[in-house]
Amino acid sequence: MAQEDSFLYALSSNNAWAGYKAHQNPNFFPKLAGGQTPQILWLGCSDSRCPETTILGLQPGDVFVHRNIANIISPTDINTSAVIEYAVTFLGVRHVVLCGHSACGGAIAALAGGRVGGVLDTWLTPLRAIRVAHAEELAAIKDESARAVRVAELNVQAGVAVLMANAVVQDAVRERGLEVHGCLFDIGSGRIRDLGFGTGSKGGVMRGAGGADEVVRGKHAQLVFRGGSAASMAVR
Ligand SMILES: [Zn+2]
Repeated sequence: MAQEDSFLYALSSNNAWAGYKAHQNPNFFPKLAGGQTPQILWLGCSDSRCPETTILGLQPGDVFVHRNIANIISPTDINTSAVIEYAVTFLGVRHVVLCGHSACGGAIAALAGGRVGGVLDTWLTPLRAIRVAHAEELAAIKDESARAVRVAELNVQAGVAVLMANAVVQDAVRERGLEVHGCLFDIGSGRIRDLGFGTGSKGGVMRGAGGADEVVRGKHAQLVFRGGSAASMAVR
């Protein structure tokens, strides 16, 4: 079925999904068509296993997104910068989430050291620089997948530093309390871990701090983060 013609299968799946959503909530698509007010900007990896809206348990309209190979945030990348500027300045998102993930092909390629070929080697240069800068620490990690996770964490840390140096982000943090978070998605468990970088070093949206609840309201659903790590999801 899906393997015979995955595009045709995807189209028929979309048709079924649209019918289901409209049946479930007749106002869903008309409301969606009226505009977007996402509260989260998600910067993540293009990896097919990391579809942000799905893994957050949110809905269309909830998350503004930029994804690239290995979620590399570079100050000279006009694509990433344009997405950040639009989301922060015009959409007024409350949270910027940079999320890496386990078993990232970019991290694994950077660790392997050899050439991938084409423009990919240029793109992965920042990850290779991270590998070189942390060579000793990484060599001490015996388990290969754990080493790839550590590279992904360091990559998120570097990306958050770039975000915190972004003038648009800096203004929004100062003027209206925009929060910046660095996270890691563990594909094996489906869980997102807050790495504590950025403004979220005190504990932020992805991990409720203290005893207070943190509520992230999407347009069609909301996530409630209780003190500690428990979260519940409500769809209205
Ligand atoms: Zn990846």
